[in-house]
Amino acid sequence: MAANAAMIGHMAITRRGSSGAIGSESDTQRATERSPLPGEALDALVTVLDEIRLGRSRSRSELVVRTGLSRAIVAQRVGELIDRGLVAEGETGPSTGGRPPRQLAFTADAGHVLVADLGATSIDVAVTSLDGRILGHHDEPAEIAAGPEACLQRVDELFDQLRSSTRALPGRLWGVGIGVPGPVEFSTGRPISPPIMPGWDGYPVRERFAARYDAPVWVDNDVNVLALGEWRSGIAVGHDNVVVVKIGTGIGAGIISDGRLHRGAQGSAGDVGHIQVVDDASVVCRCGNIGCLEALAGGAALARSGIAAAREGRSERLMTALDQHGTVTAEDVSRAASFGDAVAVAELQSAGRRVGLMLASVVNFFNPSLIVIGGGVAQSGDQLLAAIRETVYRRSLPLATRDLLIQRSSLGALAGVIGASSMVVDQLFSRESIARWMDVGGPSGMPEVAVAAR
Ligand SMILES: [Zn+2]
Repeated sequence: MAANAAMIGHMAITRRGSSGAIGSESDTQRATERSPLPGEALDALVTVLDEIRLGRSRSRSELVVRTGLSRAIVAQRVGELIDRGLVAEGETGPSTGGRPPRQLAFTADAGHVLVADLGATSIDVAVTSLDGRILGHHDEPAEIAAGPEACLQRVDELFDQLRSSTRALPGRLWGVGIGVPGPVEFSTGRPISPPIMPGWDGYPVRERFAARYDAPVWVDNDVNVLALGEWRSGIAVGHDNVVVVKIGTGIGAGIISDGRLHRGAQGSAGDVGHIQVVDDASVVCRCGNIGCLEALAGGAALARSGIAAAREGRSERLMTALDQHGTVTAEDVSRAASFGDAVAVAELQSAGRRVGLMLASVVNFFNPSLIVIGGGVAQSGDQLLAAIRETVYRRSLPLATRDLLIQRSSLGALAGVIGASSMVVDQLFSRESIARWMDVGGPSGMPEVAVAAR
């Protein structure tokens, strides 16, 4: 087993030596050929680190019980992680009879992560530790439609401000994470035909940040980022099969399947907003098709109904919103419903039933243990959630709903940046990435680490 440890070291050093440029598949193959058993050793190392990093195991004996690895392997891998500064030994824990065990803790301040969550009308940036703790945060209004150069230039400025204003920034920059409100090809970090992001189609977001920061960069759509945040730090912790639905301007879903985010073959999994729910030529979606769920139940649709209700004098609250701001937003409708406005309540219930019908099919198909409802529209008022719950439980198969929970998102306004940090950290500590940077102490200065990970 000592040989295995040496092999990991050998492999990683070789990778570093040969990877002045972006690493390729053949590099990986060559490295594998040199190392007879790196797979098992790496698997065990990543398993042990995940256990400690995610707070599931706090001592060597817990690791043995939870992972099924032998005592000797656990001791060896923990030793390697301590040598590399990724795990530290702390206080002694509670004794179970014999010598009290030393508590193991992930070294979350070995480095820091920069994240940006770009919305249709906002930019949220944060700097976090390696366990997703927010050390500095800033948000401001911004139009994604202004295009990539203007938006990302602003993100650079905000990153600079955050790094200079955050006191005692831990370690070096270990990674950058960007969430955008449209489909992303995850393997390249490029938005692909995003409907509300003019000028962004195919734009090399990853390359742009990698060149400036010399660190690995990951880019994903806002819904996957939200799903990762809820799964790692929010209400979905401990669930292996989760659907996270974001009802914002549009509607989308992030899918955690068997304990990992399911992105699909091209990265477009979970695009449930464009499932056809009515056969009505008058319901035209921004995607160009007719009858999409999002065109009937998304935030833009709610806002349209709210404006109509206000103009026709059917709702006092919505008329007030229209008078004061010149328009009615989905959030206005949601807020009016929470005050009992009859028109707003009916709109939210109708939207909730439509989302619920779609989710009933998803539940029958996928059998999640938890559905999380997030996004601006879902944040206030209970009517939407109640209508979704009622419809899903009524229309799904009994076995699939026996233990199914349907909950509101728990991370609130910080969900986007917390999720983007979770994405970066999960990728950094994935088997593929860690092999590349472990023996040089960290991924700083290694933008190519991002290319390896899936
Ligand atoms: Zn559509």
